[in-house]
This record gives sequence, structure tokens and C-alpha cells, in this order.
Amino acid sequence: LPLHEAVLGSAERYGSEPALVDGLTGETITHAELAAAVRQVAAGLAEAGVVQGDVVALHSPNSIAYPVALYAISQAGAVVTTVSSLATPEELAGQLRDSGARWIISAPVLLPVALAATAPGGPEVAEVFLTDLGPGQLGGHRTLGDLRASTGPIPEPRIDPATDLAALPYSSGTTGMPKGVMLTHQSIATNLNQVDALRPPYQGERMLAVLPFFHIYGLVMLLHRPLRAGGTVVVLPKFDLEQFLTAIQEHRIEGLLVAPPVVLALAKHPLVDRYDLSSLRYVLSAAAPLDADLAATAAARLKLPHVQQGYGMTELSPACHTDLLVDPQPSPGSVGKLLASTELRILAADGSGTDLGTGETGEVLIRGPQVMKGYLGRPAETDAMVDADGWLHTGDVGYQDERGYLHIVDRVKELIKYKGYQVAPAELEALLLGHPEIADAAVVGVTDAEGTERPKAFVVRAPGSTLTEEAVIEYVAARVAPYKKVRAVAFLAAVPKSAAGKILRRELRTAR
Ligand code: ATP
Ligand code: MG
Repeated sequence: LPLHEAVLGSAERYGSEPALVDGLTGETITHAELAAAVRQVAAGLAEAGVVQGDVVALHSPNSIAYPVALYAISQAGAVVTTVSSLATPEELAGQLRDSGARWIISAPVLLPVALAATAPGGPEVAEVFLTDLGPGQLGGHRTLGDLRASTGPIPEPRIDPATDLAALPYSSGTTGMPKGVMLTHQSIATNLNQVDALRPPYQGERMLAVLPFFHIYGLVMLLHRPLRAGGTVVVLPKFDLEQFLTAIQEHRIEGLLVAPPVVLALAKHPLVDRYDLSSLRYVLSAAAPLDADLAATAAARLKLPHVQQGYGMTELSPACHTDLLVDPQPSPGSVGKLLASTELRILAADGSGTDLGTGETGEVLIRGPQVMKGYLGRPAETDAMVDADGWLHTGDVGYQDERGYLHIVDRVKELIKYKGYQVAPAELEALLLGHPEIADAAVVGVTDAEGTERPKAFVVRAPGSTLTEEAVIEYVAARVAPYKKVRAVAFLAAVPKSAAGKILRRELRTAR
């Protein structure tokens, strides 16, 4: 089944139960209301001229209107390309051009960005709609509420789940330009089934959505997954620790899907102890490296056996590994085990093409039904990523332990080459986070005048700390092999991170 049909079908089954709850205002949309709104907005989109095969950009922070727009786009036969709510006008314009989007649905607060992106000289779009669910134009733009008033027929596109795209999300752009990732209905639905086999979501399960829906992790795991199972998604527009903790307490949230910065806050922030978080049954972190000690600290504080992990990427719809299940013997620091019908290889990083065995570290290769169809308009990059035998070269370095758990060391591209040695920033960051006076940290390689790359730490001091550069350097030096020593330290107020929780090392490199 196409994804939106699965969600609409579940809406019929779970009718009067809440599907979406605004975590700040309490405003609620039931499963039946969601289905009705999706069909009406789809009719409105069709009447406005959206035809099967069009690309529609969805440009919004999380809101309860987000899935209405998302599924209406699919019901109209169009393909959604999700845009970061933090995108600059130039970035939005770039994605509109690259994806060929003819329409934009923006949050009212982002209208100025959408208008700047499509100003004369920029990419041309047919119309900019706004995500507001109520009727009445805003700033001369039609809202979802206006589209709902359409009396046209509900479009019934013919969709082949195996080949038609369910979404065109963009990779995060951590290592280069974001790339449009073509994901079919089948690849995403299969990935959901693979994950659900470990821990099925259930009717009435309450999930808290603080991760952005525009990123593949939030899109698939916090919208498609709970909504097709009759769950309830409590929606927050951004990560604010107090709002987040209040929402867990008020809505008795059972499962949290988050990224490492949230785990960091759960482990270190004094505020956490002031809330009743006893409803939590599991916390799963993905999207960036998570240190085992930090995870253990957070778990102990939440009185959970451990913090679990998932691993994947936009190109994998998005998951290939997780330990999202009650695992009596987890492997600390690992990202979990391989999902069903997915294969793994660890390839020597020396370019020899040699397969490595258990415990040996190399590049992670994945093959399975969740692998993308390709990058839109980038055949050469697609071929570089997915080889002729269907193996996806993840660009991540890791090893599999004796019990089959995968451990991710870092990205190939982030490894700092220091005099012939390789230093993983993630290892040094984990070490720094273990210091009681360090609230957050990031490490990048900076190249000196002689062309030598050296690890440089960016450190956020805990409140009241007077930690010095020398003290940080000594702290690390006492705990690692000499070649891994941090060579310079800069102090900052906050580590720059993406909305999905990834350290923006590019910004640190240029800030140097
Ligand atoms: P781009 O490909 O555009 O440079 P990106 O790789 O950050 O950006 P995403 O698809 O959002 O874009 O992220 C996938 C990457 O996130 C993985 O390749 C991996 O490096 C990292 N990642 C995801 N989950 C984990 C995890 N549990 N532990 C460590 N790293 C992870
Ligand atoms: Mg990537």
C-alpha cells in the first residue's frame, strides 16, 4: 500500500482517537479528522493545478498541520520534498531548483523565507500555500484551510509502490551539498515493517515528536510509523528542554526517539530531576554518534536499563540497525543489530576491497530492500554510493562485535589524519563529555601551515567552570595514545548543531 493510504486506512479504524496533539496548546486532531482533512486538502491541491508527478516542497517546523500537508501531497499524486525549517532563502531556492518543485507549502512564520527564495531571478513556483489549518488567506496566500474548502473531486492517483516516490528528502549536507534522495513507498514501508518486527507500535501509543519531521528520521519514525498504527503523536516545534520535559510528564510519554543532544541534556541538565518521567519505557537515539558512558548516565537518571540506538541514513529509508527492543544484554555503545532481510559487510578502508571479519574496523556496507532508488539527477553520485551489486557504501567506519552488534566509530570523512594515524573525533568528543566541567564538546581537524592536520577541541564549559585550555589538553592527554592528543582548544557558548542533532563541523572549521 502507498504510505498515505496505509495512514488513511488506519484513520478509519482508529477514528475518534487522537492522532496529533500540539504539545504547547493541546490542540488535537483525531485520526478521522486527519483523514478527512487530508482528502479535502488533496482535492484543493488538485483544483489548484497540482498533478500527478509534480514535486511539492513542504517547508515547515513540526506542527499538527504538517502531516495533513504531507499526506495530502501524496493523495494528490505529487511527491513531497521536505525542506529544513532552518533553511536560508538561498538553501530553499537551491532545493526548489534541484528538486524541480513547482509548489511550496510553508509555515506562516517561514513565508518571508519562501518569498525571498522565489523572488524574481529565483526559481519559479506556481503558488505558495501556508500550513495554517483555518480558512482565510494570510498575506495573500491560501492556507490548508482554504484548500479544504474546495468542492472538487478527491484525486485518486494510480501509484505503484515499488517504483513511485513517497518522498524526496534531502540528506543533511553534513559532508557536502545535500542530495535529493529518491525513496519509494515500498522502500519506506518495508523499512517500517523491519523496525516494527522488533517493537510494534500500537493503538494509542503516545510518541513525542521533537525531532524535525523534515528529516528522514522524524518523517518515517515519528509520523508514518505511529500514524499507520493508530498511535498518538505529541508535536513540539523545536527542542526546548523545559517544554520537552513538561510534555513527557503531561502526556505520559512511553517511548522517546531522539538524537544525541537530547540524550546529553537528559544526562547532564539539572532540570531533568524536577520532572516525573516515570512513564518512559525506552529512549532511542540515532542520527549521530552517542557515547556509551553518556548513554549510561542518561539511562541511570531515567531509571531505564539502557538508552538504545538506531543507525541509518536518508539513503536507507532510514534504518539498517537498531536495538529498539527489550534487550536483556545490550552491547554498550553499539547501534544495535542488523534489521531483517538486510546484509552487512565491513570493507578494509585501504581501498583493497578486502572483507573484514568480526572485531575488525572498516567501512560499513549495507544491502537491503530499504536502499534508495538513487539521488535525483545525480547518476554519478548514485553509482559512487550504491555499487553494481546493490551494496550501499555508507561512508561510516565501524566494526561488528562477537554478538553481532555494530559499533560506529565515525565517518570516513571526519577521521583526522595525524601523521599517518587516524583519529576519530567522536572518540575525543565522548572523552571530553566525561569531564564534569564540560557541558558539550566537538572536535575537528585543523590543518596548520605545514599541512599537518591536528585535532582541535571546541568546548562549552559547564556553568561556573573556569577550565583552561591547558587543563583540557592535559585531561585528554592523560587518557589517550599520544597521537590522539588534542592540540588546541577553543571555548564557545554552544556547539553548532543541525535540527536533527548533528554537529556542524563545517562551521567550526571555518570559525577556527
Ligand atoms: P550528507 O550525506 O548530506 O553529508 P548526512 O550523512 O549527515 O549528510 P543523514 O542521512 O541525515 O545525512 O545522516 C546519516 C549519517 O548520520 C550516517 O551516515 C552516520 O554518519 C550518521 N549516523 C546516523 N545514526 C548514527 C548513529 N547511531 N551513530 C553514529 N552515527 C550515526
Ligand atoms: Mg550521508
